[in-house]
Amino acid sequence: AAASRSSLKIGLVPADGIGREVIPAARQAIEALGSDVPKPEFVELLAGFELFTRTGTALPEETVQALKESDCALFGAVSSPSRRVTGYSSPIVGLRKILDLYANVRPVISVAPTPEEKPSVDLIVVRENTECLYVKQEEMTPTENGREARATRLITERASRRIGEMAFELAKARQRKHVTIIHKSNVLSITDGLFRETVRSVPRLHEGKYDDVEIAEQLVDSAVYRLFREPHIYDVMVAPNLYGDIISDAAAALVGSLGLVPSVNAGDNFVMGEPVHGSAPDIAGQGIANPIASIRSAALMLRHLGYGAPADRLDKAVDEVIREGQVLTPDLGGKSKTQEVVDAILKRI
Ligand code: ATP
Ligand code: MG
Repeated sequence: AAASRSSLKIGLVPADGIGREVIPAARQAIEALGSDVPKPEFVELLAGFELFTRTGTALPEETVQALKESDCALFGAVSSPSRRVTGYSSPIVGLRKILDLYANVRPVISVAPTPEEKPSVDLIVVRENTECLYVKQEEMTPTENGREARATRLITERASRRIGEMAFELAKARQRKHVTIIHKSNVLSITDGLFRETVRSVPRLHEGKYDDVEIAEQLVDSAVYRLFREPHIYDVMVAPNLYGDIISDAAAALVGSLGLVPSVNAGDNFVMGEPVHGSAPDIAGQGIANPIASIRSAALMLRHLGYGAPADRLDKAVDEVIREGQVLTPDLGGKSKTQEVVDAILKRI
């Protein structure tokens, strides 16, 4: 599909806090690619907690409609209210549902290894994004011995298969071509057993297509242990929602600032880039947010759409700026402003 587009309609949802500072940075980076990508048409869209406090709506219908008419999107960050607010639910969670973005894909790579150096961490966490404990079916029952709380954990063959396919597809495009299935089927033999078995069966469903991809599996506890001790053993890690959530944050911690780590929320028909960090209220409005996670999210989004070469150009420009170490935001020990970092990256693009 990549070659057939004459223009690329990109929804921009900066939302809250530093989202409003880093999404414009990603936009400038895409614009700098020129004719390497189909002519981008940006559509600025509203959402977020701040919007909710002003208007009572966190995710306006116009935003949802415009996204449905776009090819892809970039989402900034939403502030999470410190306590439950009546009538509010997170727009990013809503969008994942509405657009059926069933995979959260997060590449984690060591900070700017030189071209000769091998990065010590170079992996992708592929997290199932729609089920597991996140179906949020909880109930509380009073008993003779006090209250009892239960939660439902849903694992379906369909969701496990499509997340497995996403993992194999990503692994196939990488050098190592290695998938590790993360589970805990020694304890949860039915739910995690189904996840494990279904992901394992993916290559059989696509005769020959994934023959060159190696499959391993690991219990989630030992996977986290090994992630910290020998992260280089991993290439693509695929996990149900909750384990994936924990592993992807742990993996991000391996490479330093949250301001560096990108992600995409991906489905069969839509992809939405989203920096891993939040709205960072402590630094919002100061013009010092690190724009790199957002620019890398834009690159990842383009890669998912089939524009690998322009995505490489963005990543390379970012790596050079980090490696040179002259123009960095304070989270990386520098003194530069967001726009100065953007300008340095644009110059290299
Ligand atoms: P939220 O509720 O929106 O997640 P938070 O308080 O958890 O907000 P995060 O955005 O998750 O904040 O960030 C955690 C810490 O990392 C903060 O101190 C923040 O300043 C820092 N940080 C996050 N993203 C960036 C960035 N892009 N550039 C610089 N610092 C960042
Ligand atoms: Mg946070």
